[in-house]
Amino acid sequence: MQDYDVVIVGGGPGGLSCARHLSNSGLKILVLEKNNTLGKKICSGEVSSKTFPGVKFKNEQKWETVVVGTHKGTVPVSYNRPFLWTVGRFELETFLKNNSDAVIHFSEPVVEITPDYVVTSKAKYKYKFLVGADGSFSRVRDYLKLPMKHIVGWAFHFIIDKPADRFAVYWLPNTFPKGYGYVMSKSLGKTMIGGAMVERSDNSKESVHQVLAPKVKEWVAKEFGLDVNKLKSEGMKGNADYRGWKFNNVFLVGDAAGLLNPLTTEGIFYAVKSGEGVAKFIRRDPEGQKIMNSMQNAHRWQVLIFDIATAWPFCWLVHWILSNPKGWLRSKIFNYVFWKFMDG
Ligand SMILES: Cc1cc2nc3c(=O)[nH]c(=O)nc-3n(C[C@H](O)[C@H](O)[C@H](O)COP(=O)(O)OP(=O)(O)OC[C@H]3O[C@@H](n4cnc5c(N)ncnc54)[C@H](O)[C@@H]3O)c2cc1C
Repeated sequence: MQDYDVVIVGGGPGGLSCARHLSNSGLKILVLEKNNTLGKKICSGEVSSKTFPGVKFKNEQKWETVVVGTHKGTVPVSYNRPFLWTVGRFELETFLKNNSDAVIHFSEPVVEITPDYVVTSKAKYKYKFLVGADGSFSRVRDYLKLPMKHIVGWAFHFIIDKPADRFAVYWLPNTFPKGYGYVMSKSLGKTMIGGAMVERSDNSKESVHQVLAPKVKEWVAKEFGLDVNKLKSEGMKGNADYRGWKFNNVFLVGDAAGLLNPLTTEGIFYAVKSGEGVAKFIRRDPEGQKIMNSMQNAHRWQVLIFDIATAWPFCWLVHWILSNPKGWLRSKIFNYVFWKFMDG
């Protein structure tokens, strides 16, 4: 058995950010990643300005126009500065990894967790602190016996083999109740067209195939005239059911903690920031607790707004705003909320 001070399960944005902020601490850090390389998570890879302030990625696509759709049609809303940057997940995660002195083991899924050590497909590793950064199917969260019910979302989309020509979000309460349709990059170079929906009580994969996929198929075929039978598709879960981040010497960050923003499905920022918060907490830097308090507060607001915005009749109020986001009063509300979410 090998000894480490901190074992981080998961080499996504949350785990790698945690490793990055534990660098030069004198602690022995190990990141265990089940995949054989970085950047495999199903994701659009859009980051807002608050995620990596001052960092310029080599390959990135800027978005200054958001296309807003309702059943009445689409309206492009343009700004004179970008609100999102598409960055390939591989590049994003490589940036975090290269700024860390942690040991990273690829192709090592954690298969068992005990109070003192974790077991992978290859070895056992003893830990003083364990960080669960293993995403929305988190084994560390399971070990802590935390349920995942409110709010858990599913995304399902078709993949087009060319770069996205727009960043579009569709508010269609009749088609995607408690969700939305989207056209976004699939990281860089590909486009994903699909829908996201919240499941309150069910954590099973069946709901994505039985409930969401048929709705997405019908909508994509009708709205975009695509032959969905010829396109590749994929589904993925997102966890916004936050139930805490600190459990004695075990911590949760990012999607494992349920810190995904249910309103925008922006999760990279919350993973990166909570990874930083937990790292600083382990280093006994008071900033760590402050970051985690602000993550927690932000999440409470997001859930409250999500619950209100998606409840009848408020979802129709949102529909009214989005059906003409350039109208005098509606643009004021739209722009305020939009930039609040983008810049934090
Ligand atoms: C369709 C879709 C589009 C999205 N688009 C965006 C977007 O544009 N912008 C945005 O900000 N957010 C987006 N999100 C959300 C975002 O992908 C997540 O919030 C973010 O990736 C969370 O980061 P994380 O590090 O917590 O988890 P993950 O990125 O899920 O990383 C977890 C890591 O842990 C590894 N792992 C899992 N289990 C084990 C195990 N047992 N042992 C070892 N390793 C393990 C995984 O392989 C993975 O590398 C999107 C989500 C979906 C579903």
